[in-house]
Amino acid sequence: MHNSKNIKVFLISKPFSPNFPDLAPMETIRKDILETPVEFLKGVGPAKGELLKKELRLFTFGDLLQHYPYRYVDKTKFHRICELNEDSGNVQLKGVLRRLSVMGEGPKKRLVGQFRDDSGVMDLVWFTSIHWLEKALVVGTEYVAYGRINAYGNMLSIPHPEMEVATPENLERAPVFAPVYPGTEKLNARNLDAKALRRLLQSLFEKLQPGDLPETLPTYLVEKLHFPSRYEALRGIHFPKTQEELDAARNRLKFEELFFLQLRLLQQKRRRKDEVKSYVFDKIGDYFNRFYAEKLPFELTGAQKRVLKEIRRDFALGKQTNRLIQGDVGSGKTIVALMAMLMALDNGFQACMMAPTEILAQQHFLSVSAYLEDMDVRVEFLSGTVKGKKRQAILDALAAGEIHILIGTHALIEDPVQFKRLGLAITDEQHRFGVAQRAKLWKKGNPWPPHVLVMTATPIPRTLAMTLYGDLDVSVIDELPPGRKDIVTKHRTENHRMSVNGFIRDEIAKGRQIYVVFPLIEESEKLDLKNLQEGYEALSREFPAPDYQISILHGRMKAADKDFEMQRFVSGQTQIMVATTVIEVGVNVPNASVMVIENTERFGLSQLHQLRGRVGRGAEQSYCLLMTDFKISHEGRERIQTMVRTNNGFEIAEADLRLRGPGDLEGTQQSGILNLHIADLARDGRILQTAREIADRILDDDPVLQKPHHVVLRQELEKQKQHKGWGRIS
Ligand code: ADP
Ligand code: MG
Repeated sequence: MHNSKNIKVFLISKPFSPNFPDLAPMETIRKDILETPVEFLKGVGPAKGELLKKELRLFTFGDLLQHYPYRYVDKTKFHRICELNEDSGNVQLKGVLRRLSVMGEGPKKRLVGQFRDDSGVMDLVWFTSIHWLEKALVVGTEYVAYGRINAYGNMLSIPHPEMEVATPENLERAPVFAPVYPGTEKLNARNLDAKALRRLLQSLFEKLQPGDLPETLPTYLVEKLHFPSRYEALRGIHFPKTQEELDAARNRLKFEELFFLQLRLLQQKRRRKDEVKSYVFDKIGDYFNRFYAEKLPFELTGAQKRVLKEIRRDFALGKQTNRLIQGDVGSGKTIVALMAMLMALDNGFQACMMAPTEILAQQHFLSVSAYLEDMDVRVEFLSGTVKGKKRQAILDALAAGEIHILIGTHALIEDPVQFKRLGLAITDEQHRFGVAQRAKLWKKGNPWPPHVLVMTATPIPRTLAMTLYGDLDVSVIDELPPGRKDIVTKHRTENHRMSVNGFIRDEIAKGRQIYVVFPLIEESEKLDLKNLQEGYEALSREFPAPDYQISILHGRMKAADKDFEMQRFVSGQTQIMVATTVIEVGVNVPNASVMVIENTERFGLSQLHQLRGRVGRGAEQSYCLLMTDFKISHEGRERIQTMVRTNNGFEIAEADLRLRGPGDLEGTQQSGILNLHIADLARDGRILQTAREIADRILDDDPVLQKPHHVVLRQELEKQKQHKGWGRIS
């Protein structure tokens, strides 16, 4: 009795007793500070707290801490006028106001000040408060001006600069390097503008101690990478004293963000690899060897050989292969797919290949059948257009195991399609297949899912591939077959029309064929179809029958009509193919040497690259003519310049990512990469690469992160997972 009472007293008194310097419980309490609802921060309160939640989704101290500045007001140095250019951004200048005059009328009325430093002269411009400023500013006085450079033609100016007389006190004041936070109109209107956010962050940091922001990375890593501590980094990103401090902070925070993303993805991938079993293909047999020795019409490129080796290694493991094969248009993916299928056949399995369109599936069927002629391999085609008895015969033969390779469209994954022993499924142009469809494909294997190869000609920047397909293995065919000439690409406007037509005529006279592609999108489909029709008619006048024959192809046509037109072009009966982007994917007519793209500005970069890839498939020099109006947007011009500059799909994909940001690229929605706070996949490729390599090495050494120095990693992953599950619905 006596004892337990004592203990009770002891327990109660412990936290209050100054004689117990035991910090452990204190630390646990302090850790939670980041979970404190944001309204409890000095200067916030319930009303503003509500706004911060609604407008910026800032719920807690921790969220606020991750609301990073998007730029900084740097008044630590003076710029020189002669060194400024249109990209200089915000600058601080010291100089003399030489002249002040009101110019223009009505809404164009403005006050223009001529400002001179020891290197040059430029204009400062005000559109409002003109009357007041005219009186307040004194010509002949030395000022410090701060504002954002604006370029008009090749004239630089600063609209609405902040002006301060350059008194000795002003000049000697501590240099300012202040964060500017992203906000919203609503916040600005309710006294929560960038400056107010800055004050909030300041009061947050007054509350925070280094112990509140414990390390999330193992010490050895922080040391090896010369990173500031986590506390220093977070302080440094909000309130840097110098550019160097800011850079170091940013580096670490970007790394950290990408590192944990990669750690999570790689862990998933490893787990899946361990769990999903599939068949062991360990034989290379007659099918493969005979094809290689007798049928293969050319030497494989080094890249093709390498990728085949990677596939073969996967196949032998007894785990399901899930490999993405990226290769630029014309890099020769089909043959790689075919030889992988022969490996499946050699091990007693069936294989299938699925393409997103009828035309493409047909083409694969034709080329695969041709490659395998006289090889005792039964190849069949299946799509929605194969009906009745023919369909039934195929289904029966498939279930009986008499068909070795089935090629087709989505029809392959419908329920009645049953394989006897499906061992390998290949999908071409995978971004058009959804997750559910892929799952259906998996179920076609029995008892185990087939190995899966996914081929895409949409080059994805490495950085993005690592994240989007972070849980797939990726092979890249980064070499084109020898003898390919780069496609000559030119930008042309309407006033070149005559010479463009002349060029087409010359190429046709040499026996070549021509594509002319028009944009077509759903929103403006009617108008686009009209454009296409008019374009077709104009070409028919310019290139009249019977000397010339023109095909037309668009998505609104019946499948049979499309096939018919396509076949006329493939067989060379028509010289010109007028089409929408239905020809974008995979179509292979080696004799086609000119791709004319109309209204080029309406196409995205990767689409343009795909289209261009339809030519340059034969030995002849090929051309791509990008037609536009005279007027095109800045971004449109950049896309066209990129196309003219390079034929390299990966370079183009990088440019695309830079221009559009990852949010618009396919597949990014599901991947979670849009929740990045600070890292930018378009710019931080190198950091991402490092982060991934390090994450991979750590998992090699310690797969479940159980070593003492990796416990922090496991904790952080766990914490991030919990945060995701929070379900923050406002
Ligand atoms: P893609 O990667 O765009 O699907 P394809 O597989 O259609 O490319 O190949 C494009 C063309 O290049 C085809 O005509 C094919 O026969 C040819 N080809 C593929 N590999 C080689 C090679 N190693 N050497 C020469 N030609 C090749
Ligand atoms: Mg292809």
